[in-house]
Amino acid sequence: MAVVDQAPVPDVMHKPSSHSEFEIISRFFARPNLSFPREGIELGIGDDAALIAVPPNKHLAMSMDVLISGIHFPADADPSLIANRALAVNLSDLAAMGAEPYCFTLGLVLPQSDEKWLADFSAGLVQLAKQYNCPLVGGDTSRGPLSISIQVQGLVDKNRAARRSGANVGDKIYVSGTLGDGAIALLALGLDSHLGSEFTLAVSEPSTACLQFFEDAYFNPQPQIGLASAAGKLFSSAIDISDGLQGDLQHILDESEVAGNINLGAIPFSESALCCLSPENRLLAALFGGDDYELCFTLAEKNCVEVESIAKELGVRITCIGDINAGEGIGYLDVDGSPIGATAQAFQHFSATT
Ligand code: ADP
Ligand code: MG
Repeated sequence: MAVVDQAPVPDVMHKPSSHSEFEIISRFFARPNLSFPREGIELGIGDDAALIAVPPNKHLAMSMDVLISGIHFPADADPSLIANRALAVNLSDLAAMGAEPYCFTLGLVLPQSDEKWLADFSAGLVQLAKQYNCPLVGGDTSRGPLSISIQVQGLVDKNRAARRSGANVGDKIYVSGTLGDGAIALLALGLDSHLGSEFTLAVSEPSTACLQFFEDAYFNPQPQIGLASAAGKLFSSAIDISDGLQGDLQHILDESEVAGNINLGAIPFSESALCCLSPENRLLAALFGGDDYELCFTLAEKNCVEVESIAKELGVRITCIGDINAGEGIGYLDVDGSPIGATAQAFQHFSATT
């Protein structure tokens, strides 16, 4: 290629006090504690592409989430918490396939290169990457409005992934953890919520412990990787709850061409949710809120005891909340077992004793 005099210098983070893209990568991302070696990762950061081996008996599961400042997280949030959340929501997608984390790539768009921000962001990634033995193997860095795109790769035994399409009539519907905390967190932390003006706290001032719990639930969601790795093969279908139980379960029902019943009284809530919200608003948060990153999965009845004992051993709460039947759509059962309408308005009048 001909050398052109005074070729334009790309405007990549070039401010007097800032670093070039190359410096950012080498200082904050190509770090031994973030881009650590792992069997099968033949080549990581530094070349034009990473080289990844896929064991012959495995499928490579890939998933990506884009988080935009001001939409998916507050612009001034702690960068290590943003990093944590960005990787955790991706790992949650792997869990929902029954896949084990393998490695990830990072697309980072930054308004400027802020050393402290980058150091904290990178530290947040290290924590989860180490925990799940999931090294950073590449990415791209550019200048613009703050956004974070992460793509994770996972491994799952061939033909054993938990797809949305596998639920069968007679299966039981389960969820992990507690529901609604992500949506309640937005409310408790004074962030935007899409659940309407009637979605309010039932206490004027939540305790510090409750506020801390909700902040953790939102920024530090715990992907259910352990449960999925140990029991995913027994799930007939699975999805992670990112948009609220109603919408996410509906995806399973649609893909599996079945219907489902949910016992509203069985939906599990955290102590903090029980403490800070009315029964109606707890249900709104669980069914229509989102940001929980728990798993919703179905089990053939013969596998329920085994999966329950695996979960118990792992210390992971799982709860049977309903069952799959023939037809389409979700039916809701009141605490006394009687059917109840499925609209958001209906839940405003639902009086649970939970
Ligand atoms: P190219 O011009 O070939 O895309 P880059 O200069 O963008 O290369 O990146 C150089 C190397 O640094 C590549 O291996 C790339 O994967 C890695 N990289 C760039 N940005 C990031 C990032 N945000 N996180 C991790 N790796 C990165
Ligand atoms: Mg690049």
